[in-house]
Amino acid sequence: MTELAYLADMPSAYVRTFRARIVSLPPGGVVLDRTFFYPAGGGQPGDRGTLRLDEGTEVAVVDVTKSGPSVLHRVRAPPAVVRRLGVGVEVDGTLDWERRYRHMRLHTAQHLLSARAFVRTRLRTRKAVLAGLRATIDLEGPLPPALERELSDDLASVVGEDRPVTILRVPRSEWDREPNAQRSGLVPLPPQVDPVRVIEIDRSDVCPCGGTHVRSTGEIGRVTVEPAVPLPDGGSRLALTLDGSGPPTASG
Ligand SMILES: [Zn+2]
Repeated sequence: MTELAYLADMPSAYVRTFRARIVSLPPGGVVLDRTFFYPAGGGQPGDRGTLRLDEGTEVAVVDVTKSGPSVLHRVRAPPAVVRRLGVGVEVDGTLDWERRYRHMRLHTAQHLLSARAFVRTRLRTRKAVLAGLRATIDLEGPLPPALERELSDDLASVVGEDRPVTILRVPRSEWDREPNAQRSGLVPLPPQVDPVRVIEIDRSDVCPCGGTHVRSTGEIGRVTVEPAVPLPDGGSRLALTLDGSGPPTASG
């Protein structure tokens, strides 16, 4: 079992290096007692980075996935190096921060796009996918033409106001009391989730989520929303792209 340390609070999403102990070594991978590496899920790709032993040996983490209650860090290194890893050994984990921080900006922008699309059309998001500098959301119905301009303006305004992003923990019974609340997401919560980890973007969005987000919308930077594409099932796909030159405010 791995403690998902990146979930704890907002500062935990900004941790780039950490100490942890190896608890098992399944083929090709390392399971730690705790991790700040995000395992792929919810449309957000897994993190990459390195694990380093005290004697200096370093292995590359090429993918991170959930495996039941554990997180599997898939590593790439020569067999002689991998043999130096052992159960009980402590390592220093280091995230590929440029990649992770991009995902945090992109993921927070995706929450905003889903929220604004919902406010303007009442269409909810069925699925979101993040890759590189681009995120797509699949909405449950067709969109009016040229809506991307209004959505672009909406996002620019929220980014410009630098609104805080906070994590709330809401008891499940309280969350379930309002089954028809105005929410932009359609993905059902698994029954065992309690409390519900809720991401609140000030005056913009409230959404249950286990991903990583920036602490303030100003960190997202400039965003471009592309025209919607109709999907064969009657839904529609919207895409947004981050400015590759980075956010206007400093990270970390
Ligand atoms: Zn999220």
